[in-house]
Amino acid sequence: MNKRSIATVSLSGALDEKLRAIASAGFEAVEIFENDLLSFGAGPRDIAKLCKDLNLEICAFQPFRDFEGMPEPQRSRTFARAERKFDLMQELGTDLLLICSNVSPSSLGGIDRAADDFRELGERAAKRGLRVGYEALAWGRHVNDYRDAWEIVRRADHAAIGVILDSFHALAPGFPTRAMASIPGDKIFLVQLADAPRLELDILSWSRHFRSFPGQGDLPVSEFMQAIAATGYSGPWSLEIFNDQFRAGSAAQTAVDGLRSLILLQDQLAPDWPKLVGEPLAPKAKSHGTGFVEFAVNETKAGELARLFSQLGFRRTGKHRSKAVERWSQGKVELVINSETGGFAHSHYVTHGPGVCAIALDVDNAGLAMQRAETLKARTFYQPVGPGELEIPAIHGVGGSLLYFLDQAGKNWDTDFEPIESNASDDALLAVDHIAQSMPYDEMLSWLLFYTGILDLKRLPQMEIADPRGLVQSQALINGDQSLRFVLNGSSANRTLPARFISEFFGSGVQHVAFACEDIFATVAAMRARGAGFLDIPGNYYDDIEAKYDLAPDVMAKLRANHILYDREDDGEFFQVYTHIFDERFFFEIVQRRTYHGFGAANAGIRLAAQAREVRPASMPRV
Ligand code: MG
Ligand code: MG
Repeated sequence: MNKRSIATVSLSGALDEKLRAIASAGFEAVEIFENDLLSFGAGPRDIAKLCKDLNLEICAFQPFRDFEGMPEPQRSRTFARAERKFDLMQELGTDLLLICSNVSPSSLGGIDRAADDFRELGERAAKRGLRVGYEALAWGRHVNDYRDAWEIVRRADHAAIGVILDSFHALAPGFPTRAMASIPGDKIFLVQLADAPRLELDILSWSRHFRSFPGQGDLPVSEFMQAIAATGYSGPWSLEIFNDQFRAGSAAQTAVDGLRSLILLQDQLAPDWPKLVGEPLAPKAKSHGTGFVEFAVNETKAGELARLFSQLGFRRTGKHRSKAVERWSQGKVELVINSETGGFAHSHYVTHGPGVCAIALDVDNAGLAMQRAETLKARTFYQPVGPGELEIPAIHGVGGSLLYFLDQAGKNWDTDFEPIESNASDDALLAVDHIAQSMPYDEMLSWLLFYTGILDLKRLPQMEIADPRGLVQSQALINGDQSLRFVLNGSSANRTLPARFISEFFGSGVQHVAFACEDIFATVAAMRARGAGFLDIPGNYYDDIEAKYDLAPDVMAKLRANHILYDREDDGEFFQVYTHIFDERFFFEIVQRRTYHGFGAANAGIRLAAQAREVRPASMPRV
């Protein structure tokens, strides 16, 4: 059985906090990073006892640097240093030392010289029942390729010497994974896993700061694992992630994300790799769009929000049989206003102010979606329901909100709501086009794995939105039939406008909901006639659009008059307009797509500046 492991270097906090987080996420093993031990206030025997109590096997102690190929007198000192680490390992109760390839300028090359050093170290380790694994660092001085590391191990020809394979060091430089399949499985002492986004960066900085869990980056980690599967390897799968966000974030959350990534990786490899411990994963439920969006407000705000909904052409179509909850509909869009003074929506309102407290997703099988989410360690939510009410299965999502799974069985509005007659013939909005969620940048990778792991969502290329004070990362996720789109916006520079929106206005969570329509000019005209107002866009913007694209004069005039933004990608066209911000918290967008797949990233800076002027005319900078 392949145990699931993580290196302590991947998490924030003191060593005991890390170990507790790792155990409670469900890992079976751990690699102890030397610095975590050195900086900790208790000795190796205490750590050994804690791991035993937590049921964690210490599968490796790491790293031991600059060992092989040293000239005398350094060579003798290096062996003496290794003996000291062996002492420590015996107190710690682990049998594997990770040695990474030498980066010292004094080291000498030569495969046989290195092999001789390892054979001698193997002798010393074997006397104590210990083993040594050799890992090629991508920036090693003489050895930077796992194939060379394996050749050294092969020539060392000692039972206590094996190779350690790290997906980052093999995949980031683009080494072929084929050669792994020819290494005997029992000579692979440890497999370390990390992904990373594709970046134009030197490999050392890339590795030290931007590694991520498998599935969060762009490296073909599952291909790497497939090659290893062919060897019959039965040791641990160990996550080794150097990432500034992870080291600043919550250890508990990072550990859960790590386990989630391993479960997902195992699932991708299931036919080749049935041996990893853990329960099997239910297949991804197919999503079919947004079932409803629920807003938590108080009684006063409920009236204001209802007024805005009706200006946007929504009809009040239902009243909850026992609660202060209303249903508003238009096209396929269903909105719920919840102004109850108890229950989940109310506590969300008290904590976050008015905003989206829940999103329901249409899926073909809600039970399956819940099963998958639970196996992936999502936090489930059950709320007691009244007589005659349906219980909709839910999990906790971004910013303390809920994500409901709604299938045909759960979709009967009349069970909970008393229907109200209305006329749908003027409906202009068709469906929810996308839902944008803001979050601190250090949470983005976590939510990315959450959404793509649980649902049938694929990543689009990440976008950077320029802000006068920094960059905002924008990651769009989309399902197969394009009926469900999430846009995750993360800002790390806390002086960027979105970061200030997060901290001062919106909070983490839904920032806007965009609705699709077929004719934006007619739709906006009707909304204006009902009293709706839209975010003011400066004339400069339209001068620029006029210069960039040869739009007909009457189209240009209508864009200007209605504050509609415009974008083009190849032959595709995109029209978008924003409502004023509701209570400084969230807003709505109306879009029209003509074979356009993006989200108007080119206009995001214009929109942000316009919102900044609107929300804080005196204190926000004018752009
Ligand atoms: Mg490594
Ligand atoms: Mg948008």
